[in-house]
Amino acid sequence: MPGPIPSPAAELEAAAELVAVARRGVAFTGAGVSAESGIRTYRGQDGLWKEFDPYKVASIDYFRRDPSVYWEVARRGWRVHGQARPNPGHVALATLEADGHLAAVVTQNTDGLHREAGTQNLIELHGNGRTVRCLDCGAGERRADVQARLTRELPPRCRTCGGIHIKPEVVFFGEALPPGAMAEAFRLARQCDLMLVVGSSLQVYPAADVPEAAVERRAPLVIVNDEPTPLDAEAAVVIRGRSGEILPEVVRQVRLKGRLPELGGR
Ligand code: NAD
Ligand code: ZN
Repeated sequence: MPGPIPSPAAELEAAAELVAVARRGVAFTGAGVSAESGIRTYRGQDGLWKEFDPYKVASIDYFRRDPSVYWEVARRGWRVHGQARPNPGHVALATLEADGHLAAVVTQNTDGLHREAGTQNLIELHGNGRTVRCLDCGAGERRADVQARLTRELPPRCRTCGGIHIKPEVVFFGEALPPGAMAEAFRLARQCDLMLVVGSSLQVYPAADVPEAAVERRAPLVIVNDEPTPLDAEAAVVIRGRSGEILPEVVRQVRLKGRLPELGGR
């Protein structure tokens, strides 16, 4: 595990206490959980927001008018995205599910890294960027194939109909969230016995309503983030720091508590 744990030991201990007794916890994650995999967040210290405005680049209205703006940014950014691998934070969440503490991970991320880390019950509120679909004819394609032709074709054209509106299967600003995913996320949040928020600025709605639904039902809230969030005041525990360092330590402490001797480890 890299480096020293930056947070106070008491907070880690308190978080581990809550996770250890949870049986249907929900982790709600944002771009921060993938930052240590090399994918930049929108907000936060090294956020992409400082370079361009995602409300424009990734808005459906702009995209329909001129998809080349989106693909120009994606041409530069995908190299990192496409090669990113899960980090110890993703793995720790998959472990907490396998150990019986988490019922699901609800993510705003579109990078697919939770699935790759082994999370089974995964709700992707904003879709998944590894596939691309044509808004005109509905044909689908692998993202990697579209990216490969961006150097000679901008915007990229649909291989089936020739149109220019091929879009990654992620939810852009101005688009509705997949209704099934949202309903399932709220169902899980209302029933959970722990809400673990990791690496989200909690500023993107309606996704940020999900942890609030758990708070309304008085589920304990644990927040792991490297800057303050609007829900900090509601939290039982706030741990400030990097999820790739903190979450494996939480797992270690939960396992030390040995409250689930009947369940095997991974
Ligand atoms: P956000 O960018 O608004 O906030 C990320 C938060 O994580 C910030 O508060 C930041 O301080 C914190 N953070 C950064 N590195 C961290 C680390 N190592 N450990 C813990 N916290 C860390 O992200 P959001 O709340 O997910 O909302 C942004 C929207 O952008 C989402 O809708 C998401 O779909 C999209 N997005 C996705 C990805 C991805 O798929 N990886 C990346 C960028 C943006
Ligand atoms: Zn088409």
